[in-house]
Amino acid sequence: MTALPNCPKCQSTLTYEDRGLLICPECGHEWSAAQGAAEEPAAGFVVRDANGTILQDGIP
Ligand SMILES: [Zn+2]
Repeated sequence: MTALPNCPKCQSTLTYEDRGLLICPECGHEWSAAQGAAEEPAAGFVVRDANGTILQDGIP
């Protein structure tokens, strides 16, 4: 058994997979199974100081 992601629309845990698509029976949303795993939280991470200025780290 592979853990399926929750529905991105209604967060339902009742999602099931059918021919490469993930389907939510609660709201009827269908999406590609490959999309959810592509997100990398670390990528594009931006730190701002109290003034809203973007702090750029790692630049010489
Ligand atoms: Zn749903």
